[in-house]
Amino acid sequence: MKVTEYFEKAKGQTLISFEVLPPLKGGSMQAIFDTLDPLMEFKPPFIDVTYHREEFIYKKRASGYYEKVAIRKRPGTVGICAAIMHRYGVDAVPHLICGGFTREDTENALIDLNFLNINNVLAIRGDARMFDGKFVPEEDGHTYAIDLVKQVVDMNKGKYLHEDIENGLRTDFCIGVAGYPEKHFESPNMDFDLQQTRAKIDAGADYIVTQMFFDNKKYFDFVDRCRAAGITVPIVPGLKPLTKLYQLNSIPRIFHIDLPDELVRAVQSAKNTETRTQAGIEWCIQQSRELKKAGAPCLHYYTMGDSETIRKIAEAVY
Ligand code: FAD
Repeated sequence: MKVTEYFEKAKGQTLISFEVLPPLKGGSMQAIFDTLDPLMEFKPPFIDVTYHREEFIYKKRASGYYEKVAIRKRPGTVGICAAIMHRYGVDAVPHLICGGFTREDTENALIDLNFLNINNVLAIRGDARMFDGKFVPEEDGHTYAIDLVKQVVDMNKGKYLHEDIENGLRTDFCIGVAGYPEKHFESPNMDFDLQQTRAKIDAGADYIVTQMFFDNKKYFDFVDRCRAAGITVPIVPGLKPLTKLYQLNSIPRIFHIDLPDELVRAVQSAKNTETRTQAGIEWCIQQSRELKKAGAPCLHYYTMGDSETIRKIAEAVY
């Protein structure tokens, strides 16, 4: 079933969903099951699986020279989606990115997904590779997520890249896109960012999942701005508990978001690891309860492999 159909069927009830990362190359599928098994009692109708493009690393060779080697650290997104659907009987939402894909690669990936009966995708651009500094598309690949959305929409109309394909099979993908309550870091300002989000919806995207945030006001303001700009699709808040001291720096650095003073103080002043974790969990529970009360269509938790923490939050909220 499509993600948006779940929202319609829920008739205003706030659903729950989870996002998992593929294990590092060489790891096993069991790591995903170990994360999800304890969370399935909360009945998520869908589970997202992130996609990770190749990175470059430098390997020192016997000659003393360094060789630049491309490596995909977390492969397996499509296989994990199929395994999740098979084991739990819920829908899986693979993230599909522009980076590292030619348009032909994207078409082939969508054909695979369609054959696997996977009818949902989250269409995103992907981040710049560490050594590139800025996002570099493949030759004949997409530069922005909107281009990816358009390609999926084309396939939903039976339009393939090769003009000689007539009456091609029409896929039926439901398309999610990313939204940024605190603005995407490359956007010059909020209005510009909103225009690009609106363009993705106008191109055919069906719903938005937000970047994580720790101050609900940012989400509520974002929803208000989207509605004022004519964006009517469901906007799903993305949530992650902050439970470690180092995350006070790493989360703002990686995700380009602010942390509220009160949360920073609670995490900093915690006497030990246990009370710190508890402070982060409490914060996320309060956020979740408020979002649920306000009628958010779904609370989407970034698990990052930490099912124990997410489970405590879900238990308190659902
Ligand atoms: P876009 O919508 O293409 O926007 C990127 C930037 O370009 C924005 O600043 C936008 O304003 C600007 N822009 C867009 N269109 C135009 C235009 N026509 N002209 C000029 N500027 C334009 N990354 C991964 O690698 N794998 C994942 O699985 C993954 N999952 C994610 C899930 C969620 C819910 C979110 C919020 C992010 C995720 N990301 C993931 C990170 C994402 O790839 C990055 O945030 C990326 O930098 C932007 O992706 P986007 O789809 O928002 O890009």
